[in-house]
Amino acid sequence: MAAVLAALGGGGGPELTSVVEFLEARPATRAQLERVHAARYLDALEGVARMGGGALDADTVMSRDSWDAAIAAAGVAIGAVDEGIGRGSAFGVTRPPGHHALADRAMGFCLINNVVVAARHAQTLGKARVLIVDWDVHHGNGTQALVERDPSIRYVSMHQYPWYPGTGAEGDRGVGNVFNVPRPPGLPRATYVRDLLAAVERALTGWSPDLVLVSAGFDSLSGDPLGGFTLEPDDMTHWTKELRARVAPAPVVGVLEGGYRLDLLGAGARAHVRALA
Ligand SMILES: [Zn+2]
Repeated sequence: MAAVLAALGGGGGPELTSVVEFLEARPATRAQLERVHAARYLDALEGVARMGGGALDADTVMSRDSWDAAIAAAGVAIGAVDEGIGRGSAFGVTRPPGHHALADRAMGFCLINNVVVAARHAQTLGKARVLIVDWDVHHGNGTQALVERDPSIRYVSMHQYPWYPGTGAEGDRGVGNVFNVPRPPGLPRATYVRDLLAAVERALTGWSPDLVLVSAGFDSLSGDPLGGFTLEPDDMTHWTKELRARVAPAPVVGVLEGGYRLDLLGAGARAHVRALA
């Protein structure tokens, strides 16, 4: 999070600092979280933190402060929706990430599914149709599972496949609202750029969203240790601009997902936010 804030602050250059306003959000409320997660699951997460932390699965570990961090991150995603509706765009710097989290299970560093909490919040504000575009290198299995039976939300994900977490087959269509783009590593970057936009076009055929959320993972950039895609920060700028043009006047709100090389994470977030701003 510090790397992203540094990249968007002084490290973003004068053209970014002059147009980006930094705001703090309030933690998500219990009611906002329970739109997405089971009450017993939330109680269990809070309990693990209160006991000093512990491992939830092989790669998802909580410390004493993880519950506070998780509800803060979900609150940031909610706050980004509020600001995005008012301003046309916003970006939520969320840690921990969220797109692997299921209704009642933590996975892959994710405790609370920030982007789905944000989508449900947007719907309470009258943004009935929400498009989620996920360009993290991993499939957002949690997001898909939480929305795949609800036609009011469409989910487009491009991800390395087969790869963690193993889900995200092209044949998964939900109720016609899931658009998966599984791709092998090492393809020319232009292929990934083109194929994600083609899936967005399919999702927008005969349907226009009231709000767009981007699950903005920067582990799809070339050089990330957890992925094999070949994208460059300029591609995130291009995607963001194309997305805004296609859905205007719907607000576009980015929510941070993965990204495991700090310099790339900062550069990717800067490229995305530059195009949002
Ligand atoms: Zn990821």
